[in-house]
Amino acid sequence: MKVTILGKYGPYPPAGGSCSGYLLEGENTKILLDCGNGVFNRLQKHIPHESLDAVVISHLHWDHVADLFIFRYAVERSLVLGKRKRPLEVYTLTEPWEVYSFLPFLDAVEIKPLNRYGDIRLGEFKLTFLPTVHSKPCCAVKVEKEGKTMVYSGDTEYFEGLIDFVGSSHLFLCEANFLARDLNLNRSNHLASFQAAQIAREGGVKSLKLTHLHPENPVEEVLSEALEEFSRAELAEENEVIIL
Ligand SMILES: [Zn+2]
Repeated sequence: MKVTILGKYGPYPPAGGSCSGYLLEGENTKILLDCGNGVFNRLQKHIPHESLDAVVISHLHWDHVADLFIFRYAVERSLVLGKRKRPLEVYTLTEPWEVYSFLPFLDAVEIKPLNRYGDIRLGEFKLTFLPTVHSKPCCAVKVEKEGKTMVYSGDTEYFEGLIDFVGSSHLFLCEANFLARDLNLNRSNHLASFQAAQIAREGGVKSLKLTHLHPENPVEEVLSEALEEFSRAELAEENEVIIL
């Protein structure tokens, strides 16, 4: 599978950056994991937006879903122009209702409510979900294709269940919104980079990319705190392409 990092910031980007968005491409299927602000623009640098089959949303916070609302306009136009034959499938949790209820738009999107503990097949990909610990319902996503596995953490605090879930995946895209000092200030809802690295080490992952970075946190500190726990930790880079 081919993984392209479209955006790596949360809960807002710095100048020129984008929030969460990860493009997965197989031979016949293209999926977007999360569609935060700035991601629709970035997506089109890599593929025609009409070729995207489905969007899978980890949770309905704006830094993960904002650009879906304008993506719908492009889908609706593509259907009228005959460039797209089917609506865009959107897999998502149904809470919070006030965001979920805004997702439909004419015939542009086909909403598919997610079972938090379930799995789905999208073309040649198998996706499995695990609820995380966050202020709103959120899922981590495991993607498998032909013996290769990628796990995306979504947004989460530390919890042991994530170690089993990441297993020995080939790529772990893990949020690292905090530094250690943020935890010392009793901030919650996110992982510090050293915790992401601990989960990667204990799970036995092959490679770790730190993502969902806070634009105010110096990246050198984010990386150095992670490297103390896991020597293969790396910072995600926007527009980076990873082949598994
Ligand atoms: Zn977020």
